[in-house]
Amino acid sequence: MFRCLLATLALWLTAGRMLHASPAAGWDIAKIEGRDYVSLDSIKRFYNFSNLTRSGNSLLLENPKVEMKLKIGGCECLMNGVKFVFTHKVTTIGDKAYLSRMDLSKLIDPVLRPNFIKAAGDFRTVILDAGHGGKDPGAVNSIGTEAFYNLKVAGRTKSLLEAKGFKVVMTRNSDRYLTLQERVNLANAVRENAIFISIHFNAGGRDARGIETFTLSPPGVSHYGRGLIAADAQARTGNHHDSANIALATSVHGSLLRRLQKHTFDRGIKRARFSVLSGVRHPAILMEGGFMTHQNEARLIDNDAYQNALANGIVDAVIKYRYAVAPKNTSSAPR
Ligand SMILES: [Zn+2]
Repeated sequence: MFRCLLATLALWLTAGRMLHASPAAGWDIAKIEGRDYVSLDSIKRFYNFSNLTRSGNSLLLENPKVEMKLKIGGCECLMNGVKFVFTHKVTTIGDKAYLSRMDLSKLIDPVLRPNFIKAAGDFRTVILDAGHGGKDPGAVNSIGTEAFYNLKVAGRTKSLLEAKGFKVVMTRNSDRYLTLQERVNLANAVRENAIFISIHFNAGGRDARGIETFTLSPPGVSHYGRGLIAADAQARTGNHHDSANIALATSVHGSLLRRLQKHTFDRGIKRARFSVLSGVRHPAILMEGGFMTHQNEARLIDNDAYQNALANGIVDAVIKYRYAVAPKNTSSAPR
C-alpha cells in the first residue's frame, strides 16, 4: 500500500504536464498566479524530514542525511551546503510556506531521489568538452586564455577518469576551433550511454568570483539572468534528461566546492539555454571553474594545484553520480 502510494506520488511529481490529474492524497497544493505550489509540510512528510522549523523568514528542513535551508521570498536553497537557484520564490499562504511544484519536481526531487531518475542509465563513458579554442580564446587576462585552461583541466580530468576505468571522449584535444554545433554533433555521435561535461572559466566585473554550474532550463524556465520569452516554452533535446541533468550538476558542483574549500565562493547551480546543453542527447552540464577577471582567481586558475582540485572534483562527482543513479540491485559502481 505504502509502496503503491509512493509510486503514485512519484508519477504525479514527475508528470509535469498532467496538470489535470487529481493530485495524490496527502499533498497540500495551492494555486498562486496560475502556478501549482506544494506546502513545505507536504515536502517534509513525503521526503521523511524529521523537522521543519521556521525562524523569521528562514526555513529549515532536516533529517539525519539532508539539511535544506530556504527563505520565504527568496529564490535560493542550500541543500547540504550546496546552493541551488529556484525558478520561483518560496512563498506563504497564511502561516504556511509553499514551494513551486516546478522547483520541487525539476530540482529538489531528482536531487533527493536520484535513483528514481528514469532516463539516467548506467554509463562508463564521459564526454569532456573543453570550451572555446583556436580563433576563440574565450575569456582572456594578462596571464592566459580560458581556452588554454579549459583544455588543461579537461586533459587532467581525462587521465584521472581513465585511471578509474572510464572511457573518455574529448570534443577537442588541442588548441583548435569548434563551433557549438560541432561539439553537439561529436557528443551525439557517442552511441552508448554517456554524460557530457563542458568545462569553462568565467568573466565578469572586477569583484565577481566563485564557481557556478549550469544545467539546461526545463521548458517554461528562462535562461539565467533574463526574463521568460516565448521560445522558453519549447522542450529541447537536452530536456529529455532534466532530472539527470540536475543530479549531475549537484554532484559536480558539490564536489568542486569540497575540493576547493576556502579558495572559492559558491555562486550556485543555475539554469541556462546554452547551445551545448540544449542539443546534447546525454545528461549534460556546463561548469564555470572561477573568474579569469578576478585578480586572485586569475592566479589560482593558472596554478597546478587549483587545476588538479577541479579535475579531482569532476572525477569525485562522476563516481558519486554514477553510484547515485545506478539501479540499487547492481553492485558494479566504482568506489
Ligand atoms: Zn567559456
